[in-house]
Amino acid sequence: AARADEDLLAGLNPQQREAVVYRGPALLIVAGAGSGKTRVLTHRIASLLRNKEAWPSQILAITFTNKAAGEMRERVEHLVGDSARGMWISTFHSACVRILRREAQQFGFTSSFTIYDSGDSRALIKRLVKEHEADAFGLTPAAVQGKISKLKNELADAESYARQANMNDPVERVFVEVFGAYQRELQRANAFDFDDLIAQTVYLFRAFPHVADVYRRRFRHILVDEYQDTNHAQYALINELTKPVGSDAQPFEASGGMMIFDAPAADAPGPASLTVVGDSDQSIYAFRGADIRNITEFERDYPGAKVVLLEQNYRSTQNILSAANAVISNNFDRKDKKLWTDVGAGEKIVGFTGYSQHDEAQFVADEIETLRREGVAYGQMAVFYRTNSQSRALEEIFIRSAVPYKIMGGTKFYERAEIKDALAYLIAVANPADEMALRRIVNKPRRGIGDVTIEAISRYAREEQITFRDALANSSALGVGPKIQAAIAHLDAVLAEASDIMLPPSGEIAPPTSVTEGLQLLLNKSGYIDALRASRDPQDEARVENLDELVAVTREFARNNPEGTILDFLTEVALVSDADDLEDASGSVSLMTLHTAKGLEYDAVFVTGVEEDLIPHRISAGEPGGPQEERRLFYVGITRARKRLYLSLAMTRAQFGEVSVAMPSRFLQEIPHELLHWRQSPGDVNSRGGSQSRALNARRGGFGGSTPGKRYGDDLVPLARRQPNGSIEKFANRIPAKVRDNGDLELAPGDRIRHDDFGEGRVDLVTGEGAKRVAHVRFDTAGAKKLLIKVAPIEKI
Ligand code: ATP
Ligand code: MG
Repeated sequence: AARADEDLLAGLNPQQREAVVYRGPALLIVAGAGSGKTRVLTHRIASLLRNKEAWPSQILAITFTNKAAGEMRERVEHLVGDSARGMWISTFHSACVRILRREAQQFGFTSSFTIYDSGDSRALIKRLVKEHEADAFGLTPAAVQGKISKLKNELADAESYARQANMNDPVERVFVEVFGAYQRELQRANAFDFDDLIAQTVYLFRAFPHVADVYRRRFRHILVDEYQDTNHAQYALINELTKPVGSDAQPFEASGGMMIFDAPAADAPGPASLTVVGDSDQSIYAFRGADIRNITEFERDYPGAKVVLLEQNYRSTQNILSAANAVISNNFDRKDKKLWTDVGAGEKIVGFTGYSQHDEAQFVADEIETLRREGVAYGQMAVFYRTNSQSRALEEIFIRSAVPYKIMGGTKFYERAEIKDALAYLIAVANPADEMALRRIVNKPRRGIGDVTIEAISRYAREEQITFRDALANSSALGVGPKIQAAIAHLDAVLAEASDIMLPPSGEIAPPTSVTEGLQLLLNKSGYIDALRASRDPQDEARVENLDELVAVTREFARNNPEGTILDFLTEVALVSDADDLEDASGSVSLMTLHTAKGLEYDAVFVTGVEEDLIPHRISAGEPGGPQEERRLFYVGITRARKRLYLSLAMTRAQFGEVSVAMPSRFLQEIPHELLHWRQSPGDVNSRGGSQSRALNARRGGFGGSTPGKRYGDDLVPLARRQPNGSIEKFANRIPAKVRDNGDLELAPGDRIRHDDFGEGRVDLVTGEGAKRVAHVRFDTAGAKKLLIKVAPIEKI
């Protein structure tokens, strides 16, 4: 008989098909990049729905980003028609927020809890570190935050940690104090930090088996993408959800001392089916507690699990795959798997070495325009870098070259002070227990409510055991002067008016537009907008525009979520992650970090800054497994490319106001020579060092200067480029000990200069400032070049 999912299976290879049709309690799909893991998950969901083996509401699919969740939902809906509503396709964090909003009242929170992002929790920890004088023990807020996060990812709570901690160690003791105080403050504020969202859901399930059972009954099919990057808490969450219904039922004592066993009903369903997919070679979040063992030990944890391997890659050309295979094979302690494709060798990988990161960025911009002319859409190109700070140079050049781009990293917008203020106003309405949000806005705009008054309010709230918000409503009892009292009363009235709009008395449902209206009311009546408008600071004008943008975001939210409440809005905002962009990026080149690139694919990919200290990153060098994780990150980057891959670096990089000399990344050497075509190799650029000595020799009456047009350096040390398998380190050895410093060389359009290698030319344009000044020079014979003035071997003539 024809299967209802026949056409779904038609587009799959035999291994993929096997993974889609397998029905059993546990399925593990392990495979390299681009082999169709995500596609198999999507088709598996579609197949379950098509065959009526599952209702949409019985499916829980976990993706790594909200963006990936959105795409998966779209594809499933496309495959099964419109019937996919009710499915939970989301990140771990979003799924847990949904569960916690329903269940928080079980353990001392309310459904209107606030989600603290890492900046919020840092601010709270900072206060507590100060209060407990933990800095005297060398504990910085960052260190405390990092350690708490790590513990939570391992499901160690403050109490269990305290029990096994060495309390004779004063540092340990003060840490335990701060950790405990932090949890109490979160609870008091009715707030969860990011790590809590997962950890507290696990505690909830463990403490209240009947609650866990509700979700065990509901979710019959659980699917997890990117399983290699799950941490212990996430592992435990999945583990709780895949226990049979009723399995944790504890005997409890009924009145009169009779023990009651809440035995599972005879028809209680067995464990949900679990499908996980992953690639240990793409595990890049160990620093956030991701544990590769979750994948390597899956078969032990789920006995009888079926394992499917996929080896055919459908994404990249053979050249790109061969490079990826070669690089990753340098990691020891891994199962070797070879990816292959039948799409052919494709173009060679292109390498480029710039003098500076501006030079590198210009190359990328020029190449993007070339690809564009060849018909590659901007939306099909992406530029990756290891650290966020590298985007600046790229952006500068892209703006100047009119390359449309979009930085993937939606959080930036929400990190702006004015946006945080506006959200704090909303939170003050939604969750009056959140003292931190109230503290943030109580004197914004300036109302004459200083620290002393804030402490007075806080003290009053504690004494009366009421919230900070309720204390505001009692301004007359605070013992403050009449002016301050009036200011507090005004703020109280504005907040009350906004909550009438956004949180109507129970039973009524706020109209979807209420978030927009409430926000506008808050910003206007609080005087916040007026204060910005009255300011002479030109930045404040931009702040008003950003707030307009936030209002637009609420409108968009209301359109997409006709039943959305202020809590839904705040949840969405809190969970915007690096990979989620607010706008449509289809007409722009995407810029993002390598971490963000996971799971994505583009026709053309530029991996920039392929230098030692960047990739592998300096901080990873000393960490156990650090360089291996960096290699996986590089592997993730290059396997995003479908057809064209560019690897670029700069020989000098200005960072933190200093220009430093960069070395080509060791990973470049791991790529077989014949796969890589250098447009400009590190040797080409570094011969500058040779040129300098040549210039010196010339002055000493030694052999002559360079011949314009000739491959400079040819008469010096043979270039590694010309040696088969020449190693990059040979280039590195020839980097001049001290980079030339032209810091004070004045150049203006029209000036003539002489370059050690390119000969004479005319300056067309000077851009940038300070150490980053770039001369755009038209050389008489060597063509147009851009030179970083500070380090270029040039002189004015
Ligand atoms: P990553 O490890 O990067 O997450 P992945 O294993 O999840 O990759 P997918 O993103 O599912 O791989 O697939 C990579 C590309 O190959 C996608 O464009 C997908 O549509 C395509 N693809 C996968 N399987 C097939 C197939 N059988 N036929 C045609 N295209 C396929
Ligand atoms: Mg994938």
